[in-house]
Amino acid sequence: MLQYATMRYDNVIRFLGVAFVIGALSGLVGGLIFGGADGDPAKAASEEPTTDTSLVQAMTPEQAAAVGANEMGQIPVLEYHKIGTPEAEWTRTPENFRQDIAKLKEAGFYPINLRDMVEGNMNVPAGKTPVVLTFDDSSPGQFRLNDDGSIDPESGIGILNAATEAGGWAQKATFFLLLDVQPDNNVVFGQPDLKQEKVQQLVEMGYEAGSHTISHLNLKEAYTEDAVKQLAVSKGEIETMAGGDYRVSSLSVPFGEYPEDDGIFAGEYEGAKYTYTAAVEVSGGVSLSPFSTDFKALHIPRTIVRGDALDQMISNFESNPSLRYISDGDPAAVSFPKELAEDLGQPAGDLGRPTITY
Ligand SMILES: [Zn+2]
Repeated sequence: MLQYATMRYDNVIRFLGVAFVIGALSGLVGGLIFGGADGDPAKAASEEPTTDTSLVQAMTPEQAAAVGANEMGQIPVLEYHKIGTPEAEWTRTPENFRQDIAKLKEAGFYPINLRDMVEGNMNVPAGKTPVVLTFDDSSPGQFRLNDDGSIDPESGIGILNAATEAGGWAQKATFFLLLDVQPDNNVVFGQPDLKQEKVQQLVEMGYEAGSHTISHLNLKEAYTEDAVKQLAVSKGEIETMAGGDYRVSSLSVPFGEYPEDDGIFAGEYEGAKYTYTAAVEVSGGVSLSPFSTDFKALHIPRTIVRGDALDQMISNFESNPSLRYISDGDPAAVSFPKELAEDLGQPAGDLGRPTITY
C-alpha cells in the first residue's frame, strides 16, 4: 500500500474506489492497483493493467481472525436533523456533534455513505466498525456557506470536514434533501442562490445526496400518483443539481410513514425511470449487515441522536461484541466467524464476492 503514498489523497480514494468495484466483479484488484508500477506511483493508474498479481494479498481466514472480522455484524445508522443551538429534541449543537464524532472515533467507528452500505462496498479499515451518519430535512445548519464562499466551520459539513482533516475519519455521510417545502429554510440547506453549488460541492467532497421527497410528503396518506411523482422528480432534480453522472439511490421516508406497497420505490413518471435501492426508517435501532438474509434495504432502522442515545448504542456494542460489524479491511471480501450470534441472521446466498470464514 505504500506504493501510492505520494499520490494525492483524493486521487487515491477515487482510484481505490474504482479498483475495488472492478475487483469485486472480476478479481483484478491486484492487476489494476499494482500493474505496471515502475517506481512512479502517480503513473500507475493510467498504465495498462498487467496480469502480475504477485503483490496481491488476498484475505485469508488467519487475517480475518486476527482482526476479529465480523462482516455479518450490525451497523449503526445515525439520524440527525438540525445542527445549531440550543440543543433540543431535533437539534444537536455543533459542540455536541463534534463530541459525537470524537466518541465514535474513540470507539472504533468509521463513516460510510448509506449507498456504500446497501451495495456492500464498505471501504473501512480493518478492525473498525462502519457507521452511517444521516441528516434529514436539509436545514441550513447542516451545510452553510459564508459570504466569502468558505464552509461555515460550525455547520455539519464544516465539522465533518474538520474531523476528516484531523484523521481517522472520512468525508462520508448521507444528506436527505427537501426541494419545495415550508419553511423554505429547509429547501436544500436554505441559501436559495447557492443550492446548486452546495449540492455539487457536497457530492464532490464524497458525501451522498439522497431524497426526502419534494415536500416531506406522507407516502402512506398520499395518492399513489403524487407519491410516484415526488419520488421521481426529487431524484431527477437532485441529480441535475449535482451534475455529471451523479445518481440518487437513497431515500429517507418522511415521518417514517411507508406507502402500502414498497413497489413504488421503483417506477416511472412521465417517461423518467427511477429506482431507490435504500430507504431509511425514523427509528428502530441499529441495522443488520447488508450481507444478512434478514437485511431489508428499503426498511433500514436508524438511531436518533439525542440525549444519551449515542452513548447507549456504543455501550450496547461493548457489552455484546459478537453483534458488532468488524471490517476485515478488504471491501472485496466478506469475512465473518463460523459461529454467528443468532440475532444476525444467516449469510445471504449470493454475496457476489469471496466469503472468508474462520
Ligand atoms: Zn424529515
